[in-house]
Amino acid sequence: MSALVTLFDKTFEPFLPESLIQEKIKELAEEINKDYAGKKPLFIAILNGSFMFAADLFKAINIEAEICFIKLASYKGAKSTGNVITAIGLDNDINNRHVIILEDIIDTGKTLSQFLPQLEHQQPSSLKIAVLLHKPDATIHPVHIDYCCFSIPNRFVLGYGLDYDGFGRNLKEIYQLKESE
Ligand code: 5GP
Ligand code: MG
Repeated sequence: MSALVTLFDKTFEPFLPESLIQEKIKELAEEINKDYAGKKPLFIAILNGSFMFAADLFKAINIEAEICFIKLASYKGAKSTGNVITAIGLDNDINNRHVIILEDIIDTGKTLSQFLPQLEHQQPSSLKIAVLLHKPDATIHPVHIDYCCFSIPNRFVLGYGLDYDGFGRNLKEIYQLKESE
């Protein structure tokens, strides 16, 4: 595995090797292939972070399935109740569909816990969450996770689609912020 990576002011150390990431994604895909045979699921991948995970997972899906990509934009609501999340690019009708959300990482759970009710409102046949990474110790807003590749410690990670200030997404492995940082 590669050595340290430095981006701006931060140093990252190797954490999850490429082979392990690929192995876990294949396992997850096999589970989904079994669970969704004949259901023609619609995967909704949340950009930007999930693009590599979504691509590798979808390549290992061998049942009839669709995929679309959305971006979540957060803006301050009129009331002081916090931010409002809107989905950009969700053109597919999810009513009566089996939907699987693909997310890179669940940290506090804030993003998904705000967004999921909007999808539920459209009454999909089922709605499940598949994540590459989950930081259980960071949870503030609990989200039910149906499929997860890795539960990881509460430390900032980088690579395989995940960025630090826009950079580092192209790393094939996942790195974590160095202990001393
Ligand atoms: P949450 O709403 O669950 O707190 O976090 C959602 C988003 O924050 C993730 O989709 C991801 O874009 C970003 N995020 C959370 N933790 C990390 C991390 O350790 N590394 C990177 N690169 N992004 C993170
Ligand atoms: Mg994300």
